[in-house]
Amino acid sequence: MAEKSRADWQAAAKSLRIDGRAFINGRSVDALSGETRPTFNPANGQEIAQVAYCGIEDAELAIASARAAFESGVWSEMAPSDRKMVMVRWAELIQQHQDELALLECMDVGKPIDNTLNIDVAAAVRTIRWSGEAIDKVYDEIPPTPASSLALVQRLPLGVVAAIVPWNFPLSTTAWKLAPALATGNSVILKPATNTPLTALRIARLAAEAGLPDGVLHVLPGSGGSLGKHLATHMDIDGLTFTGSTPVGQLLMQYSGQSNLKRTFLELGGKSPNIIFADANLEAAASMAAVAVFYNGGQTCTAGTRLIVEESIHDRFLEMVIENARGWMPGDPMDPATTMGPMIDSGQFGTVAGYVDVGRGEGAELVFGGKRCLADTGGHYHEPTIFSGVHNQMRIAQEEIFGPVMSVLSFKDAEEAVKIANDSIYGLAGAVWSNNINTAHKVARAVRVGTMGINNYFGGDMTVPFGGFKQSGNGRDKSMHAFNDYTELKTTWIEFE
Ligand code: NAD
Repeated sequence: MAEKSRADWQAAAKSLRIDGRAFINGRSVDALSGETRPTFNPANGQEIAQVAYCGIEDAELAIASARAAFESGVWSEMAPSDRKMVMVRWAELIQQHQDELALLECMDVGKPIDNTLNIDVAAAVRTIRWSGEAIDKVYDEIPPTPASSLALVQRLPLGVVAAIVPWNFPLSTTAWKLAPALATGNSVILKPATNTPLTALRIARLAAEAGLPDGVLHVLPGSGGSLGKHLATHMDIDGLTFTGSTPVGQLLMQYSGQSNLKRTFLELGGKSPNIIFADANLEAAASMAAVAVFYNGGQTCTAGTRLIVEESIHDRFLEMVIENARGWMPGDPMDPATTMGPMIDSGQFGTVAGYVDVGRGEGAELVFGGKRCLADTGGHYHEPTIFSGVHNQMRIAQEEIFGPVMSVLSFKDAEEAVKIANDSIYGLAGAVWSNNINTAHKVARAVRVGTMGINNYFGGDMTVPFGGFKQSGNGRDKSMHAFNDYTELKTTWIEFE
């Protein structure tokens, strides 16, 4: 099938029928209050749809329904091989609706259509299928006990899990939460980010079509501070899985402690180091250095925003990176050729512009970009931006900007590179580029992050765990390790007479 053009996507957008109702107990419903809020297309500021704005009373309904479904065993006690069939069917339905979902995500988030189709939707399909296919292959344990006894160590679902996700990767983070939580037999209540609810609502309806029993999955659009807090402090929610900012993650840990100590797993922010040694393949490293920061407009938790370059190649390498940055000028997300879209909203644009001022004020040198662009579209587009002469104590080296802003630092030797890399409250991701196997491995091991690339950035797939060290979080999405966040270990000890 020929690839769709911008005109094709625009035409498809016009005929899209968007259902902004919440998904509670297997049905699309209005919020009990009847309240709705608009969601806007960041590319042009226009309203896309009105979306149910759920409150405490909707949460109570969903929690009671989720609890009843869990206790009934309709899903929690279903044979894993049957749960697998539902999950695989669900993944297939998502794949069949890939164009619709890619378009919804493109319009809701302002992400380039090529990304939403080939990365976000594809990741959701793979995550749900993989987790479903895995679940009837997980064995529990029989530990070595004396012959007079037998012990069983089983994984049991937590019960009712709340999942709260951000706006930067709405569909893929939703899939990263829902897939392992549902595969392990939990009931789940998902709160999407207030400004990006559309794909989560759509895939919930597809889950019902795939045969997920009523009451097992609920999607409640609504505010973080009210609805999100209500879920996080609720006494009848057993687990909370979260992707979002570190400050909100800190609140959620407190909410857990103040309520029922619900299992709380967090995937948080980052300020990831990308370390370039002089002996690396510099062409490849420069190209990926730009991808690492400008992909998704820098609104990526793992963005390699601190480019740490060996002194001897600093000036030459910086020129190469600037050359690559020219390929990331923003454009219309519905154009398949666009690499970078707008910032999600005016608030995020203001944050980015504010940090550009901070960088200048701190004495860093603005060597590329730094300005608003495409202002006449009504969207909040920001140029790819590079600061050189950055010291690691500057705010633009320490704080998560969440925009297309790269801070370039330099180092003398491997020891200094590692010291700079680790001098951060975050520990989410990073990379090292070197053709010396010793340097690459030693540095990769020493940098305290959850995912480290050697001669690549953003490497990985569904088979490997994803999560942070330090203030980047404590949970692990993806791979079999994700099942740990949604299960309790239960020991049954049997004594023979
Ligand atoms: P955010 O923390 O502001 O919001 C995330 C979610 O939490 C939203 O659904 C929001 O409504 C909700 N929320 C806000 N306040 C709440 C409260 N008091 N109680 C309960 N819920 C609340 O984050 P964001 O701005 O949507 O997303 C950007 C952040 O997410 C960045 O820091 C980014 O690094 C991080 N992120 C991390 C990962 C990862 O896997 N580590 C992936 C993507 C994004």
